[in-house]
Amino acid sequence: MRLDQMTPEQRARFEAHCAQQRARSKFPLPITCMVCEKLIADLRAPFGQQQVAAAPVVIPFFGYFCGQACANAFERDYGILFKRNATGEVSYE
Ligand SMILES: [Zn+2]
Repeated sequence: MRLDQMTPEQRARFEAHCAQQRARSKFPLPITCMVCEKLIADLRAPFGQQQVAAAPVVIPFFGYFCGQACANAFERDYGILFKRNATGEVSYE
């Protein structure tokens, strides 16, 4: 199939496919703290060496913090209340 002979529908589908591939390869690479931008995890690193921060805080569908201090800072700065566990730490586990 020649690219210049694609129908508009085929071309649209092909372009959507390419965009998806790009999004997939770009998405989870280095994960950084939303406050201080410290590296939390690098999914390009070999398995077992990907996590960099000692106790990262993960907020599902939202973001990552390198630790409780940055989660607290973000909460305070943006007036958001995260879920906390029995010991008062931000936790969604
Ligand atoms: Zn941080």
